[in-house]
Amino acid sequence: MQHVDLGPSPPSLTTPKADAERAALRAFYSIPGNEKLPYDKGFTAYKGDGVREQLTEMFKGKCAYCETFYKATQPADIEHFRPKGGVTIKDTRPQPPGYWWLASEWSNLLPSCSDCNRPRRQDFPGGLPRTAGKANRFPLASEAKRAAAPGQEAKERRLLLHPSLTACTPPVLRHAEHVHRRAPAEHSSSGDEWGYRMSASPSSRRRTSAASSSTYP
Ligand SMILES: [Zn+2]
Repeated sequence: MQHVDLGPSPPSLTTPKADAERAALRAFYSIPGNEKLPYDKGFTAYKGDGVREQLTEMFKGKCAYCETFYKATQPADIEHFRPKGGVTIKDTRPQPPGYWWLASEWSNLLPSCSDCNRPRRQDFPGGLPRTAGKANRFPLASEAKRAAAPGQEAKERRLLLHPSLTACTPPVLRHAEHVHRRAPAEHSSSGDEWGYRMSASPSSRRRTSAASSSTYP
């Protein structure tokens, strides 16, 4: 994975209309009893003018996860790094409320190919086809630390790399491989299906230990 500098937020994410959606979300989730409910008005601000185009330009037409050059064949999905409306824990249906306060946060948006973003049946070497794709997953080292309110995400120890927010040395990131599997993930204490296998090159292997500790803040 290559580092991508987080550029300035598109103007459409800071318009009064976008602010109104964020205010409506805050109002909805401030009502006692709504803490575990899905937001039923829908999210639209993140799809504002120029968002998809700016993400495509920043990432040079490549998927933020697999780096496939999607631009030649398809428009990018605007992917929420932290799911906006619910989180899938293991095989559950998405559990609301998700990270609603990050629904139109620029740093939470990434361009993704449809295979990485959506749950689809995929062929895997040596095994039966199974459903893969990030969808509403956002694995953490400890589910007990899952954020339930704005700001709490700072205490999470995430297991998913972010091309702009992850602090890691490039030689290690180039050899990071994300895998979707049923066995407990190498860096997951919860046995989550989505984990990472780090395979540093010989020249970078000596730096892997120190770098990995900064990969999962
Ligand atoms: Zn992809």
